[in-house]
Amino acid sequence: MGPVKRRRPLRAAFNVMAAVNEGERKSAAEREDYLGEQWREAGALAAFEPAIDQGPGMYLGALGAFLLAGAGLYALLWYLAGPRLAQLASALPVVLLAAGAAAFLYLALEYAGLAATVYSGRNFLLPLARSTRFIVKLAPAAGRLGRLFGSTADRMTHSMVQVSNAVTRARRRRGRKAGPVLVLLPRCLQRPGCPQPLEEDIDSCRRCGECPVAGLLDLRNEYDDVVMKVLTGGSVVPGVVRSLAPRAVIGVACERELLAGIMAVDDTPVVGVANQRPEGPCRATTLTVEELEEAIDDFASKRRGGE
Ligand code: SF4
Repeated sequence: MGPVKRRRPLRAAFNVMAAVNEGERKSAAEREDYLGEQWREAGALAAFEPAIDQGPGMYLGALGAFLLAGAGLYALLWYLAGPRLAQLASALPVVLLAAGAAAFLYLALEYAGLAATVYSGRNFLLPLARSTRFIVKLAPAAGRLGRLFGSTADRMTHSMVQVSNAVTRARRRRGRKAGPVLVLLPRCLQRPGCPQPLEEDIDSCRRCGECPVAGLLDLRNEYDDVVMKVLTGGSVVPGVVRSLAPRAVIGVACERELLAGIMAVDDTPVVGVANQRPEGPCRATTLTVEELEEAIDDFASKRRGGE
């Protein structure tokens, strides 16, 4: 038996630390390979939540806070600048106060219509609130406001998606329209390691049942005119929507991708369904199939007599 080598404690500790660092570097690099673009920003993973269940109230609260803050700021400016404005024209302060009050009243009516629509499911929308684009544009600022109160931007976005979905549903018109209902799925729904090229053709799935894709294909087949696509990222959404000209788009993704996707689609009703991320973002994600089915039912009819 040869001589037993004895490691010096300091060198051994250094080697262990180097191995740990190397392992961390490797796993960070491996994560980078599969993380979607919305999760690559610094600190994004620290705010990761496996699943979010947040109703529309949080976003409506943020919109209400913006409205009140805007009115308060206008009133303060009016109060401070009023004496100088009166020197220019004695009626000017009164005119500006009346204009500000009228604008606030109108925005308050828009807000009330939006809240009534969200909670009743009926359309009480006034022109500004009819635009999901307008609603979505305030999401980043609302996310920052939410963080001030101990919430997260993803929770605020989840809430915003509920508001946006309610507006889309309230505005949908009955009757047959041209184009399919397009369901966009993220590739992270596919089991890691599954070799089937779903981005090229979702029907290449062999339906082994090890990930949600097999069940989603069964759901798609219950309808006449639902097209399902697996996407590599949010940046390809506008191109796919342009080429298929759907009558509605239903996107399944994390809150960050949903926000980007809803902002990227013009002139087509969009409904978002947030996924769940039990293994972290962008990997082996899943979804509540009933939620997706409910969204499809809003725009498509099931085949008579089943498949
Ligand atoms: S159901 Fe099976 S074959 Fe289909 S995508 Fe998932 S893991 Fe792959």
